[in-house]
Amino acid sequence: MTEPTTMQGAVCPIPLSHDEQIVMGHGSGGKMSHDLIAKYFTPAFDNPVLRAGDDAGVVPTQVGARLAISTDSHVVTPLFFPGGDIGRLSVCGTVNDVAMMGATPLYLTAGFILEEGLQLALLARVIESMRAAAAEAGVQIVAGDTKVVQRGKADGLYITTTGVGTIQAGVAIGGARAQPGDIVILSGTIGDHGIAVLSARGDLGFEAEVQSDIAPLNHLIAQIIATSERVHVLRDPTRGGVGTTLNEIARQSQTGIVIREDALPVRPAVAAACEILGFDPLYVANEGKVIVVVARQDAEQVLAAMRAHPLGADAAIIGAVVAEHPGKVYLRSRIGGRRVVDLLSGEQLPRIC
Ligand code: MG
Repeated sequence: MTEPTTMQGAVCPIPLSHDEQIVMGHGSGGKMSHDLIAKYFTPAFDNPVLRAGDDAGVVPTQVGARLAISTDSHVVTPLFFPGGDIGRLSVCGTVNDVAMMGATPLYLTAGFILEEGLQLALLARVIESMRAAAAEAGVQIVAGDTKVVQRGKADGLYITTTGVGTIQAGVAIGGARAQPGDIVILSGTIGDHGIAVLSARGDLGFEAEVQSDIAPLNHLIAQIIATSERVHVLRDPTRGGVGTTLNEIARQSQTGIVIREDALPVRPAVAAACEILGFDPLYVANEGKVIVVVARQDAEQVLAAMRAHPLGADAAIIGAVVAEHPGKVYLRSRIGGRRVVDLLSGEQLPRIC
């Protein structure tokens, strides 16, 4: 057996092989998550709906209307943090993924994995939070399941939600639809959710005055779609952050994307926390933000409509879609340089959603 390398008493652990077993980085939402899905899940379940690779699957129905269907599991720790909790997250996360297809979210299902010993008063708070978030979004939770596992086998509770919504005729939104010349709009500040959760864990070593941005975006999305028929992509930059999400869009549409660093809205407290921890806010998760890719001629109208909604008050144009460097995202820095923005590699912040 090989001895671990030691240097001045420090032990460098032998890295876990991520080709043979699941490691935390597979849950990052970045490159490792994408590789895992591409290697194991997509080939097994392969079909045109899944292959589109969007936030929700869009399926036809016998009665004409198309449905958007999405599912998401929530394992955030701690269960409560500034601005939200696992219950609000589990409703908003799925509502948002359905809304990102231009759909009207209507119904959710919820599956609960409960750990033996979980306080019922805590469960009641989570359920009340889900009820309130569903009312805010205007959706109903119409089916559910509960399972209990032994003490130590789950971290309090995990929640999986599935959402269904309908898409109006004529609405065609998806990551592959971005076109050179389109404008990229972001609905507000980035990194709030990730930093709020880290702050609640005490991982920052100081208290950051940051609240999670968790919110149901379906009403904002409805306004955006009512404003322009030329909205090409809607996507929520959750795990992996804005950097990873823009890469997904660039790859799906085989276009290039250029963003401006000075246009990215970042709260000073988030910027400060990222600076200290060595994080790039471009890769920190958001739970109440949307990236909108829209035809240039409608961009100002859409921006105005977003700013008129409370969840889009800080909306900003952050960049544009270009024909050059298909599949790649570039950032123009404040001092005029240009660098590649890649997919998040490895894991930055585990279990933030
Ligand atoms: Mg999403």
